[in-house]
Amino acid sequence: MRRILVAGNWKMNLLQSQGAALSQFLAGKYGSCAVEILVCPASPYLSGVGTTIRGSAVQLGAQNLYFAPQGAFTGEVCGEMLKDVGCGWVLVGHSERRQFFGEQDELLAKKVAAGLQHGLKVVLCVGELLAERQAGQTEAVLEKQMAGLAQVSAEQMANIVIAYEPVWAIGTGVTASTEQAQQAHAFLRSQLKSRYGEAVASATRILYGGSVKADNALELLSQSDVDGALVGGASLKVDSFSAIIEAGIQAQARKS
Ligand code: PEP
Repeated sequence: MRRILVAGNWKMNLLQSQGAALSQFLAGKYGSCAVEILVCPASPYLSGVGTTIRGSAVQLGAQNLYFAPQGAFTGEVCGEMLKDVGCGWVLVGHSERRQFFGEQDELLAKKVAAGLQHGLKVVLCVGELLAERQAGQTEAVLEKQMAGLAQVSAEQMANIVIAYEPVWAIGTGVTASTEQAQQAHAFLRSQLKSRYGEAVASATRILYGGSVKADNALELLSQSDVDGALVGGASLKVDSFSAIIEAGIQAQARKS
């Protein structure tokens, strides 16, 4: 059975003291937990948050990495550095990276491979724009974006999580309906099956992201192919993020 993962992407939010307070609360509340919990602070704060959550059920992830192992890449951070400061995870291909930083599937495939090579688990984000959904292109876009897995072997898929994040639902307050989410997740799982076979497809977790909140989390997480949530805005506050984690725990119990 797939274990639900609730991941918070803090993006370029929360100063040191704010991230420390939130992570202290989470670490205190979730010494152990039925679901996996992940927080992804901005890179200057990875080390500090990592120290705060050490020994708890809360895991540490970065929001991005560069694929080169080291060298003259001003402003970039490589997988080995992330590992060195205690990250277990890294997000790759978030729609904001695609939209604002021009990241495309070929580059993302290199980032995914680099993350795996340095022992990080990778959350590969995919999702269609509103215009693409309206033009009936959702599945074609998702299929194309699965090229982020181009260099990943079946064995390495144990360290990959896919996040379906329809761009029109990110930070907008508009959530995909449970039917839209389930349909996209089932499609992504069928893509995994054709790439890697049934066993990998049914073992790989697919998260939903896009305006997940305390009041819609349980319904979304109860869908058969929804294995967790990637949460932006609602991961920045203790109450909303812990309510989503609690919804995850309930959904996990329902699925067992
Ligand atoms: C995200 O950025 O990954 C996200 C899902 O944001 P939000 O929850 O704010 O829509």
